[in-house]
Amino acid sequence: MAGSKYAYVRNFELPDPLLPGTFMVLRLDGHSFHRFSDEHEFTKPNDARALALMDHAAMDLMEQYPDIVLAFGESDEFSFLIRKSASLYNRRASKIVTTLTSLFTSSYVFRWAAYFPDAPLKYPPSFDGRLVLYPNAREIRDYFSWRQTDTHINNLYNTAFWALVQQGGESTTQAHTTLKGTVSKQKHEILFARFQVNYNTLDPRFRKGSTLVREEISEEPSDRDNGGTEIGALVPGPDTPPAPKMRTRAKPRTQIAVLHCDIIKDEFWDARPEILS
Ligand code: ATP
Ligand code: ATP
Ligand code: MG
Ligand code: MG
Ligand code: MG
Ligand code: MG
Repeated sequence: MAGSKYAYVRNFELPDPLLPGTFMVLRLDGHSFHRFSDEHEFTKPNDARALALMDHAAMDLMEQYPDIVLAFGESDEFSFLIRKSASLYNRRASKIVTTLTSLFTSSYVFRWAAYFPDAPLKYPPSFDGRLVLYPNAREIRDYFSWRQTDTHINNLYNTAFWALVQQGGESTTQAHTTLKGTVSKQKHEILFARFQVNYNTLDPRFRKGSTLVREEISEEPSDRDNGGTEIGALVPGPDTPPAPKMRTRAKPRTQIAVLHCDIIKDEFWDARPEILS
């Protein structure tokens, strides 16, 4: 098919391939969620419904993209680790960033009502997305440590801040002043001495964020497995040759688990060497 005389403009579209054999990290962040969370009356400091909705959207992404091996979320952001061998969309940067960011956003909106049945969306939320390449496993470890440390710092601050406002009767300006220049130990002390809150016993979801991993489903193979979700499973039909006697299962079946655990120390990674392989 010959192109029109206009088709030359296509040549201005330049390829944007990502370096092969490198880890990709995609981070999404809600656009102006300070305002969005106010308008939709999120509970402060942590709205558990909003966090669970974020987790669900992230899970939808992992279900559609097997190359995502790990995800970590806090507040209005989520980071996704895409394995270094991925050939997703021929590693075209803008295709990956826009398609995944778009799916996350539409999933967030699609599932909104299930998490906020009494609070209709007032306007369409959006997320920004950026993709960064990292050459080594060390940097991936440090990346996720960075995000989880951020979760901790923000959550400790926000917990102390909202305790001063909601229970201490301080204005938001006063609470900012009270906390100005305090170190972590002092925030713990304010929470404990003034509000009888032991920070370390708060819900790990708030303190540790959400970590999504693929876990093998440990179940004995049975005939029912043929009706499972495995892609490429042999469905018997008129022209299908008889199934071989020995069951060959290409890959173990996995499900996505949402954890609220430490991902800074070695334990998490030692138990899951496949993530960084
Ligand atoms: P930007 O567009 O630059 O990202 P932003 O307003 O989204 O601006 P962030 O730094 O991303 O700023 O912070 C997100 C804000 O959204 C938090 O500070 C908090 O106020 C609010 N927020 C997000 N998730 C929750 C939640 N689950 N519960 C309560 N508040 C939340
Ligand atoms: P890709 O993900 O590569 O863009 P695609 O399936 O979206 O793949 P396109 O080249 O973008 O392929 O073509 C979009 C297709 O969607 C059209 O070929 C057509 O089949 C269908 N489509 C889109 N809009 C309409 C419409 N308004 N009415 C009927 N069909 C439509
Ligand atoms: Mg931001
Ligand atoms: Mg934001
Ligand atoms: Mg944010
Ligand atoms: Mg299309």
